[in-house]
Amino acid sequence: MKKILAILIAATMVFAIAACGANNAPAPAAPAAEAAPAAPAEDAAPAAEASGGGEFIGISMPTQSSERWIKDGHSMKEILEGMGYEVDLQYAEDDIPTQQTQIEAMLTKGASVLVIAPIDGSTLSGTLTAAAQDGVKVISYDRLLVDTDAISYYATFDNEGVGKLQAESLVDGLKKLRGDGPYNVELFAGSPDDTNSFFFFNGAMSVLQPLIDSGEVVVVSGQATQEEVGTLRWDGAVAQARMDAILAANYSDGKPLHGVLSPYDGLSRGIISALVSFGFQPGTDNWPVVTGQDAEAASIKMIITGEQYSTILKDTRDLAAVAARMVEAVLKGEEPEINDTETYHNNVKFVPSYLLIPYTVTVDNYQALVMDSGYLTEADIA
Ligand code: BGC
Repeated sequence: MKKILAILIAATMVFAIAACGANNAPAPAAPAAEAAPAAPAEDAAPAAEASGGGEFIGISMPTQSSERWIKDGHSMKEILEGMGYEVDLQYAEDDIPTQQTQIEAMLTKGASVLVIAPIDGSTLSGTLTAAAQDGVKVISYDRLLVDTDAISYYATFDNEGVGKLQAESLVDGLKKLRGDGPYNVELFAGSPDDTNSFFFFNGAMSVLQPLIDSGEVVVVSGQATQEEVGTLRWDGAVAQARMDAILAANYSDGKPLHGVLSPYDGLSRGIISALVSFGFQPGTDNWPVVTGQDAEAASIKMIITGEQYSTILKDTRDLAAVAARMVEAVLKGEEPEINDTETYHNNVKFVPSYLLIPYTVTVDNYQALVMDSGYLTEADIA
């Protein structure tokens, strides 16, 4: 408990610092309009010719329980092997000691570069600091490694932009499907040990707070801080149980629930299960607007049927390509391309970052963004 609290405080500090930085910083690449096509993955791909000298690269991903990390890992492995590197790709199944052990094994095997998407951003700092002292380069992947100066670069998306897009699509959906407000809404955030959760939630609240203040949006449960709405380990079952409890305590009198801010498709599906168990019926006028993230196949299917309103596409092929370019640059002693130096402070330093652009996906544009771009295939959503 003490540890979770310490992490929360640390992550809040990251936010506070990031917020200060953002005022002076050039804005990260603005999210493109909803209808804009995703950049083709090839645009971000590194040069095709093999350039690696056989160096060994360790890739540590958090879990295979979510589709996106499988895609991330496999894209990166393919690109790096194509460049001539030897790659060890490991998944830690959301278990912090497993991730630590896997990374230590990579170091023992002689990894020159580690690419890490941490389960808990703070738990690896000792190992990484020691590794960096031995000349190993560390690239933080999608999620920020905190409390260490060992990281060379950070490849990620405009995470605050993701949160803004989620809240904007919630509001768009409410207006489109429910007409005029006020709207009854419930809020969910991600895992408190993942700095991304705070960026997503802060981004979303920058859109929703003014509407809450004006009475246009009403959070009926009253739970509206990251501490109250966070979901440990991004676990859909935890979100489902919290939604069950909120519905029983606040909506048993038949009060309408118009929308739910959900930061990740896996949580959205848990929330949708809770809504169905409580008696809400998809396809009817009182079905709530539910957001998401990651364009997972199961959620794209639910967007097509109308159970989920939106998701966010973050093209993992592009992120993998950015990270691979970072690997190649650090091995050659060169500077990779970065586009942000003032957003992501990890409690030690601002980490030079490359931020990619997220896109909102709804039933109106999933075909162009998710299918035509090849991110998912027809078989995935069959
Ligand atoms: C990632 C999201 C993902 C979530 C749960 C976050 O750090 O940025 O894309 O939905 O973790 O895996």
